[in-house]
Amino acid sequence: MARIIVVASGKGGTGKTTVVANLGTALAQLGKKTIVLDADVTMANLGLILGLEGKKITLHEVLSGKKKAKQAVYEGPAGLKVVPCGMSLEGVQKVKLERLKKVVLELADNADFLLVDSPSGMGHDSITALAVAREAIIVATPDFASVLEAMKIKRVAERLRVSPAGLVINRASRERTDLHQKDIESLLELHVLGAVPDDIEIKRAAALGESVVVRSLRAPATKAFKELAATILKSEATA
Ligand code: ADP
Ligand code: MG
Repeated sequence: MARIIVVASGKGGTGKTTVVANLGTALAQLGKKTIVLDADVTMANLGLILGLEGKKITLHEVLSGKKKAKQAVYEGPAGLKVVPCGMSLEGVQKVKLERLKKVVLELADNADFLLVDSPSGMGHDSITALAVAREAIIVATPDFASVLEAMKIKRVAERLRVSPAGLVINRASRERTDLHQKDIESLLELHVLGAVPDDIEIKRAAALGESVVVRSLRAPATKAFKELAATILKSEATA
């Protein structure tokens, strides 16, 4: 059974999907059977940034009961397995979210890691995605607003008995306005698992539908994602 880790954040745009795609690829590069699943059923973009857009069978078809989970699994970079989500409005309307947990457990049966890209915020869809996992990685940018949102997500996770495994700081810069890692940790009472710099190579890779960790070996973001994968591998499952 895989370690099921949901990747969550307050608002959109913190880079949650980017973290799922690249952390997933880095874990696959380390030889771990890894699946990434786009549970952001209304604002899906994981397939897009991994070059798998336009697939006919996606999580939408699985959650509507038309297809089996394994039919929506595609080959991504470095042996990563990807379950993309459709982007059509009709697809969204047919989704039965209550099927998500069963789908996740089915997929997790035959993998080491299953990373779930959760919808942002605290709507019904986000809560449902959070609740399918045992552990949560929270993504925030190094500013007060984002850290406060991360705090709310952490509380929701705890209430759902999903163990907060730690925080990923994304889009770190060397600006003085950035909150320091230590301050973020004490504000949130959450360990920082890794910090990914703001890196133009991430945008370039995403535009081409590739993982930055495969495309740009020397990019600062690649180094950060590889370190993050190693940290997560070393950490024990917290739940
Ligand atoms: P979310 O899933 O949280 O909404 P995305 O992963 O889709 O966020 O990222 C939003 C945008 O920010 C994308 O255009 C992505 O390429 C860009 N982005 C994410 N992380 C970084 C980073 N570390 N450096 C530069 N651009 C980034
Ligand atoms: Mg996203």
